[in-house]
Amino acid sequence: MLFDLHLHSRFSVDALTKPKTIVKVCKKNNWGFSLTDHNNMGAYKTKTPDNNIKKLAKEHKVFLIPGEEIKVLGQNKNIFGKQNCVGEVVVYFLNEPILPSTFFEIVDSVKEQDALLSCPHPFDWPRKNFKEFKNEWKKFDMMEIYNARAYYSGLNKNSEKFFEKISKEKKISALGVSDAHTPEEIGNGLTEINAKNEEEFRKEIKKGRTNVLARKKANVLNHLQTQLARNYLIKER
Ligand SMILES: [Zn+2]
Repeated sequence: MLFDLHLHSRFSVDALTKPKTIVKVCKKNNWGFSLTDHNNMGAYKTKTPDNNIKKLAKEHKVFLIPGEEIKVLGQNKNIFGKQNCVGEVVVYFLNEPILPSTFFEIVDSVKEQDALLSCPHPFDWPRKNFKEFKNEWKKFDMMEIYNARAYYSGLNKNSEKFFEKISKEKKISALGVSDAHTPEEIGNGLTEINAKNEEEFRKEIKKGRTNVLARKKANVLNHLQTQLARNYLIKER
């Protein structure tokens, strides 16, 4: 089955896609997916049936892996007394959201919830890549080697090269994702995994058995909409 494992909805500050639209697109294409909104799982927890991603996926029989994209905070405080952002990680199979915290705190929460840890856009320095990935990669179950929102292909190529090097040493699963912030982008990057249920999904990931399909790059208009949404210049999608 094909999966798009990195998607954003209107529960992310920089996206406007309705959860309903995501389910509709995935259903039409027979794709499984994970909704990985920034620093919250509002779409999983909301009482509004029209927005509840779990309810919608179940209703339309679409395979959903619960997820979240979380900001990683540095250990030290800056001059304003705040911890800097040192990147982002994606976590799958979460029941409860994880708040932005240090990498080690996130790793602890991942273990507690028996979740899986992924590194989104590992070398994409313009977009909050996790700076410590090169040192901490052994703690990850998956890493993205194709993210359709990378500004240029060299950033994905670097991930691919790193994956090829480390996967000889320890099993880690490669992912292809869209990182869609608009409905048009869903499916721009996909991962083929031989799984019909959560148990099979976990098993394949642990064995490093995935196949990455890079289909399309996000275009300038897609990126522009993210900025417009962030600044409240567009409100509906
Ligand atoms: Zn993202």
